[in-house]
Amino acid sequence: MPAQISTIDLLDACERRPRETAASRVDRVLGLAWSAGELAGDTAGLRHRRVLELRRELAGSRWPCVTNCPACAALLDVELDVAEVLAAGGAGMERQVAVAWGGETLTLRVPSWGELLAGARTAVGIDDAVDELIAACLLEGEIAAPIPLSLREAVEVAFEAADPLGVIALELRCPACGADAAPVVDLASLWADELDGYAAGLVAEVDALARAYGWSEREILALPASRRRAYLARIGA
Ligand SMILES: [Zn+2]
Repeated sequence: MPAQISTIDLLDACERRPRETAASRVDRVLGLAWSAGELAGDTAGLRHRRVLELRRELAGSRWPCVTNCPACAALLDVELDVAEVLAAGGAGMERQVAVAWGGETLTLRVPSWGELLAGARTAVGIDDAVDELIAACLLEGEIAAPIPLSLREAVEVAFEAADPLGVIALELRCPACGADAAPVVDLASLWADELDGYAAGLVAEVDALARAYGWSEREILALPASRRRAYLARIGA
């Protein structure tokens, strides 16, 4: 796991670029810890695992987040226990799945994170994008388009079983409507928002310390967080 990441590198990676998605900003932060080659072959579950591991390394296992109840859309404050989510995801995943269909067995590979993101951004309709993705992942067997809904669902279930962290869903009872809900958490957006707040906090610390002591940004960010806080306390910031 990740080599020591410097605060200045982290701040650089967090910087928002025009028209950039949350996922690509998160990729840049992950790039501080893993090589492009390591990240390239990730499935959704492997990518989520890296986000969870690095977030835990940088900010601890308790991860407060806000999500919507799928039943009544109420905003819910919940706390993700990163260690628990990682443990629930198990140790490994399968790269291939077998799906029984029409008397034969189809073999498919689990799609990569990049393919899933490209599918979500595609100009064709979501159904066509799913069909294209399934066709691209088919290793053995034949599927005629349009792919029947029941087969799509069977493939989806097989992918989720093979790549258990591919979809992160919380299990909770909604305090507003009482429904047992399993809202899906978009880890990339959640982390990108959190990193925004973290970066803004660092900039405020640099601002206060630079004004008080005349130090450069680089000098201030080279200090451990505990020391920055000690100086901030002395100047009453
Ligand atoms: Zn609800």
